[in-house]
Amino acid sequence: MAQKYYTLMRNGKIFVKLYFQILILIMSIRKIKLVFISLAAVMLVFLSCKGEEPANNNGVNKPKYIFLFIGDGMGQNHVALTQAYLASSEGKIGMGRVFFTDYPSYADCTTWCRNSQITDSGAAGSAIACGEKADYGVISYYPDFLPDQKPQSIAKIAHSNGMKAGIISTVSINHATPAAFYAVNESRGNYYEIGAQMPESGFEFYGGGGFKNSTGKNNDKEDLYQRATNFGYVITSDLNTISTTDTSATGVYFVNPVLRSESEMPYSIDREELGGYALKDIVREAIRFLDNENGFFMMVEGGKIDWASHENDAATMVHELIDFDNAVLEAYSFYMLHPDETLIIVTADHETGGFSLGNTSNDYDSNFGILGLQKCSVSYFAGLLSEYKQSTTVYELSYVTDLAMTDFFNQPLNLTAEDSVRITEAFDYYFNGVTHMTDSELYSAYGSSNPVAVTFSKILSDRAGVGFTTWAHTAAKVPVYSTGLKSLYFTGAMDNTGFHKRLVDFMGWKE
Ligand SMILES: [Zn+2]
Repeated sequence: MAQKYYTLMRNGKIFVKLYFQILILIMSIRKIKLVFISLAAVMLVFLSCKGEEPANNNGVNKPKYIFLFIGDGMGQNHVALTQAYLASSEGKIGMGRVFFTDYPSYADCTTWCRNSQITDSGAAGSAIACGEKADYGVISYYPDFLPDQKPQSIAKIAHSNGMKAGIISTVSINHATPAAFYAVNESRGNYYEIGAQMPESGFEFYGGGGFKNSTGKNNDKEDLYQRATNFGYVITSDLNTISTTDTSATGVYFVNPVLRSESEMPYSIDREELGGYALKDIVREAIRFLDNENGFFMMVEGGKIDWASHENDAATMVHELIDFDNAVLEAYSFYMLHPDETLIIVTADHETGGFSLGNTSNDYDSNFGILGLQKCSVSYFAGLLSEYKQSTTVYELSYVTDLAMTDFFNQPLNLTAEDSVRITEAFDYYFNGVTHMTDSELYSAYGSSNPVAVTFSKILSDRAGVGFTTWAHTAAKVPVYSTGLKSLYFTGAMDNTGFHKRLVDFMGWKE
């Protein structure tokens, strides 16, 4: 009996054990199922918000209109300083409105080039345009790639896939950044050879600055404007003629009616004095001219954000960035009319000047709005100073200081004793060639700018609380703001070769 009972008990135990093991198994299968189901659900949500945006009204879920805005030298702090300046000039603490910072997608982007941690615009423009790291100072030049595998600019690829293409810049049209989108050259300094490739691209719109070295370094070459005309381009400086251009023309090349010494457009801060159009005017007309059923790709460069930053001219930089934002707003207005088929990307090729919002002169204090007291750019004021220098041989410090108070500032600035010492040193050096500084001290004080002009600008930006670490570029990451179709592709951490790769990827373009 006991044996039977014992067997039963033992079997019962086994049975219970088995029962629980099966139960556990079922539960874990259920759990696994549950995990799978929730994973699938997450994936579905992810795909629905990341990749598979709804098809736009012509049934394809890829942008028909692509805007790529490049603020040359525009680091995160350039944007932040402009926002802080806008708030401060309204007497507020906080950040004023730079419109493209409202965009939903944000990334930060690395900028190093193939042979330098700190890039130039040529290599950076090449990486953005062609998706491959290039050497410092080249233009979309990839000697290591086989002839039939050379990286191509995204503008050329968009154009060969049926889109119209437009290239706009506030600097000369054969300068490094615009050149990277239509030319190939081993050196960004070969302006003539680069410019000669512009009409060969067949892109429908070029606008902004003129050709630098349009007849070659020695003025012995065919005029590049004539060459573009021979290729069927209509060249105009009258904005209103763009939209009436004959459609049989290869394209339009709009040259701003006012150009400075390097064939670039005037700074926005000097436009009241010098005239000419704003970047936004050119973008608006280019959109009208390029709009067509196959869409367009447009690269717009705010080139002189970099130039102002090379002079550590904070006030001019801020006005240049606001001008750039206004140009982006033109694209945004178009986007509002075509929300399901437009992509706008705003980024930079590198950071220039090592800008900071805060400096040793002020510690925790700042007054960024004071930058509004500056009336013209350092380079414009340098022009006035050089005119004075050529007009006489005996120079008056008081005359120069008065000139600054009337022509550089829009109201007289109270100068401290320390300010006066700095101004006198710069005056003596520039006008009389007298200085106690060594060459490296001179460089760190004035860079390669006009010593007197840069000193007045630095007195103001010091007071504002702006700091600089260099007259050159830095290796800092740059911001990427984007909105519209596929803008989610430009989020998180990215590299400047990622623009080309991601565009080609979701556009399904053949390289
Ligand atoms: Zn630069």
